Amino acid sequence: MLEILSRPGSCKTSSIRLQWRKLNLNVSTQPLRSSRGLKTVKVTDGDVARLAAKPLHPLTLADLVKHGRPPLETPALLSSANFTLSILPGRLAHRIQSLRNLPYIVVANPNVSKIHNNYLHSLGTLLPYAERQIETLEDEIQFTEVMANLVQTHANTISILARGFLEARRYISPREVTRFLDEHLRARIGTRLVAEQHIALHFSSIPHAELSESHAQESQAARQSSYIGIIDTQLRPADIIRNCESFVGEICELRYGVRPTLSINDPCDSPHGTTFAHVPVHLEYILTELLKNAFRATIEKGMEREPVEVTIAPAPEEPENADGVHEGAISTHDQGAVDAASGANKPEVAAAANVRPLEKSTPGVTIRIRDRGGGISPENYAKLWEYGFTTFNEDQASDAAGNGNMDALNAISGVGGDGGSSLAGLGYGLPLGRAYAEYFGGGIAVQSLWGWGTDVYLSLRGVGRIE
Ligand code: ADP
Ligand code: MG
Repeated sequence: MLEILSRPGSCKTSSIRLQWRKLNLNVSTQPLRSSRGLKTVKVTDGDVARLAAKPLHPLTLADLVKHGRPPLETPALLSSANFTLSILPGRLAHRIQSLRNLPYIVVANPNVSKIHNNYLHSLGTLLPYAERQIETLEDEIQFTEVMANLVQTHANTISILARGFLEARRYISPREVTRFLDEHLRARIGTRLVAEQHIALHFSSIPHAELSESHAQESQAARQSSYIGIIDTQLRPADIIRNCESFVGEICELRYGVRPTLSINDPCDSPHGTTFAHVPVHLEYILTELLKNAFRATIEKGMEREPVEVTIAPAPEEPENADGVHEGAISTHDQGAVDAASGANKPEVAAAANVRPLEKSTPGVTIRIRDRGGGISPENYAKLWEYGFTTFNEDQASDAAGNGNMDALNAISGVGGDGGSSLAGLGYGLPLGRAYAEYFGGGIAVQSLWGWGTDVYLSLRGVGRIE
């Protein structure tokens, strides 16, 4: 019922799957206790206009941890539910409006219109709660079910939209597509985060008596872990890199019969290597896409004997300001929420008073991925950040059907989640990866040494110090 595992990062690797299971997010096989059907109401144009008129709340990592480390007491869990409820209807209404602002012929495309209907459906499941507070655990359980339904409903948004815009490409320019998708997919990152955070807090918090035996065991594990909901306060980039290497290596072997090697340079002298606080599935999504690009270029250039070099550079400790709060530890890049974001972040770091990392993590990291795959031509370099730009399978992609992209789409729909088991071809890896990185104030920069290879710099900021 609740397929939390099919997420943008599409947890492919076993250890990451384990982490999520530990987190107790693997709830797909077990229904929540409440088995009542979801109430949904018809959403009117007036509802959409009214909700979209409200200012958007700029989401921060501090928002996600402010309810405390699990297990939450019932009042904190209710407060998390009410916080979630306070921001989602407006966000969904904004997405509906922005879809409706696309040229009519594009919205009429069956795939784009499916996404529009998905948003209407999700808003319809939230509206029964929108005018009131969630005051009892019973309410909260039902609301969590609504959240799980929301995550499930939107699991394949990226591949559906990609198909829609590919089909409608005669009616809308690549620039307009990129402008729409950049805003839409960035907003989607925030919406999913809020919903998934509440689901994760729910499952690691509600009393054992309320849970089935297996949920109770998993809940116990989540309580002892370094997680606060979906945030790992001790995320180890080196682990994620190894998992992504193994996943991407397998796709390479299937497609090309070879897999490049990868070396990791993690200068952190701690026995555990560099750790920082972040959302593991985001890092997994980005690194998978960057390694796919590096491995593909390496193989196509016949340079498999040269390892792809990954260097992890922990950010130095930042000076504390007078309030004891680290400067700039948190920021957000949520298009649509950005306008309202000015300066609202730092006090919330201090407000997250009841959570404490198990060990000291660095304030952030920069990860450099260096390949010897021949680099990127200046002409292609100019288009790197366009959604849909790809040089994969370009012989076929240049025919009317755009087979390169269709191959990638077919591979994605085969696994049922976004992120894709294809090596390339959708042209979404870099722009969407950058959207994830920028969401909490990081970024991606690409340096190409044309004829030699490419360096990609991925920088990410952590939650900062949470005392
Ligand atoms: P896709 O991989 O689906 O083509 P991306 O957004 O990941 O989409 O990348 C777009 C294009 O950028 C690729 O098709 C490729 O031409 C170029 N590119 C990205 N990374 C590299 C790299 N490391 N080396 C060479 N070319 C690259
Ligand atoms: Mg790619």
